[in-house]
Amino acid sequence: MEDTAAKILSLIKRRGLVFPSSEIYGGFGGFFDFGPLGTELKNNIKKTWWRALVQKRDDIVGLDSSIIMSPRIWEASGHTTEFSDPLSECKACHKRFRADHLMEKLRDSGELKKLGFTDEEVKDTADINQMAKVLASAKCPDCGGELAAPRKFNLMFRTFVGPVEDSASVAYLRPETAQGIFASYKNILDTQRVKLPFGIAQIGKAFRNEITPGNFIFRSREFEQMELEYFIKPGEDDKAFEYWTKERMRWYVEDLGLKEENLRFRPHRPDELAHYAKACVDVEYKFPWGWAEIEGIANRRDFDLGRHEKFSGTDLKYFDETDKSSYIPFVIEPSCGVERLFFAVLCDSFEEIQGGRTQTTEAVKEAETILRFTKNLAPVKVAVLPLLKNKPELVAKAKEIHETLKKLFMCRYDETGSIGRRYRRLDEVGVPYAVTVDFDTLQNNDVTLRDRDTMQQERVKIAELVGLLKEKFGC
Ligand code: ATP
Repeated sequence: MEDTAAKILSLIKRRGLVFPSSEIYGGFGGFFDFGPLGTELKNNIKKTWWRALVQKRDDIVGLDSSIIMSPRIWEASGHTTEFSDPLSECKACHKRFRADHLMEKLRDSGELKKLGFTDEEVKDTADINQMAKVLASAKCPDCGGELAAPRKFNLMFRTFVGPVEDSASVAYLRPETAQGIFASYKNILDTQRVKLPFGIAQIGKAFRNEITPGNFIFRSREFEQMELEYFIKPGEDDKAFEYWTKERMRWYVEDLGLKEENLRFRPHRPDELAHYAKACVDVEYKFPWGWAEIEGIANRRDFDLGRHEKFSGTDLKYFDETDKSSYIPFVIEPSCGVERLFFAVLCDSFEEIQGGRTQTTEAVKEAETILRFTKNLAPVKVAVLPLLKNKPELVAKAKEIHETLKKLFMCRYDETGSIGRRYRRLDEVGVPYAVTVDFDTLQNNDVTLRDRDTMQQERVKIAELVGLLKEKFGC
């Protein structure tokens, strides 16, 4: 499985889907740039989410709030004091670790028992006092040195607003998009004539100064979140929570096209549940290195709006015309990260066929790679290829078709290399269809349309090509 991860990473690198940020300066840990195809894929994932949650629904509206907001927001939400991870540093090699991750590793490998701790003693691996006790007798996984007692490390990036760098000008890059939604909740309520139950959805950048970024883009310091805050009347929250867990799983399978067997729910244990949450379930994906969270769905009760009402002094209650009551709504929050979905989509669509599918002389010896993206996620939808590049009439016709198609679809024109090689290059980045212009085209005004998955080729009249492709892409 690790081998699959290495192959996917190599493909990502080779085809420039993602680059390490600042690579010419040696990279910058936990930051990434998305190349041309990566940008398309990322945008398509976001569009799929937006279409399902905003465009196709009457009860959810969109928002794009600012990244830097009043620092009071983070006091109200608890991030200034609580948004931290336990950090433990090796006294010898000075490598830093997430102490809770170290604890989990020690527990899962049976090391805790060897160190003399009972299950009961370390039931809560996230408890800082238990961490301190255990890590005092554990060793640095890298050099075997002594580990310092864990301390809390706040994950928010700090900056200063305005020309003076003092405590009064401290501000933060948002560590989640959700608080921007709560802060604009009243504006939406006052201007959009929304009625409970309703939701506010937002896609945007979030920043966390992760102690140990890793697993490629899975844990980065700058990433994008897609978050929904769905407001409901207190008492209707359990039903809404159940609805959203089902709806999100439906979205992953039907809209995003992930394989059902690679997805599962993991309800939070009572000891890991955030103090404000009534319930929380993670959606996990089976990555090549194991199951890991791609989305968290939480019943956050009235915690956030209640705190913002208290800290801002602004009345955030909802007046319910049905029974003339006033209350702070409860909220259900499905929150996922674009980069984690990006990685999951790549893992899910990756396929390698030893010996290749096409039995041409070039292909027989090589393994063939296909990214079986769904049509709506594919970064490039159609490629247009002249059979030979040294035949001006074929090139001219192919360019003419490309000009027409690119107004409707993300298209690519490719004339270099043998046709077999070009097909394989396109399969490798998941282009669903290729249009080939050959000598018959010049006689009959038709082209070959090749399907990435079935490799079937059909002759299509040029006049019917746009209509047929629109049908295939459902647009
Ligand atoms: P983890 O436990 O993996 O650190 P989390 O529980 O802190 O994640 P949330 O605060 O619930 O994550 O954020 C919601 C979603 O945002 C996550 O499910 C994930 O998809 C994404 N996300 C969170 N942190 C990161 C990160 N450092 N890099 C990329 N995506 C992230």
